[in-house]
Amino acid sequence: MSIEYSLGKSEQKLVLADAALSHMKRRQQRRWWQREAGGQLFARFLDAQIIVEEATGPRFGDKRSRVSYIPYPAAEQREIDKRFKLGLHYVGDWHTHPEQVPTPSGSDIVSIRNCFVMSRHDLDAFLLVIVGLAPLPGGLHVSLHGGKAPIILQGTYSL
Ligand SMILES: [Zn+2]
Repeated sequence: MSIEYSLGKSEQKLVLADAALSHMKRRQQRRWWQREAGGQLFARFLDAQIIVEEATGPRFGDKRSRVSYIPYPAAEQREIDKRFKLGLHYVGDWHTHPEQVPTPSGSDIVSIRNCFVMSRHDLDAFLLVIVGLAPLPGGLHVSLHGGKAPIILQGTYSL
């Protein structure tokens, strides 16, 4: 299973690969007691494709509740450093929401935007993926956050 997204008018494509999708799918909040989960997204750049191969987290040290997820910053940096050597680049964050078809909260948008502005990178935008309760891909929100307004992506799903 993978989902492909066209990025604007460019030839560039964003691909959510099977491993990353499966990792996030396993943490869907199917039960009322399950807490939000989340982590980081890592991609390989291949010609005109940005292939998101890995979704990390949640990890020990994250602050998690039914309706919030706050990652542990030191663990995030360790993940970035470790994967960079393997050619996997940090491209954004993901987390779950206890709603069917998820939409980002105001603080979700502020935090990914702050992260984009404050960190050193060569990307035009950071990726935000939110995993809701509905089966994928319907239960997935995927958007780009850069200098301008957020761009919501609509993907093509393939098995
Ligand atoms: Zn959220």
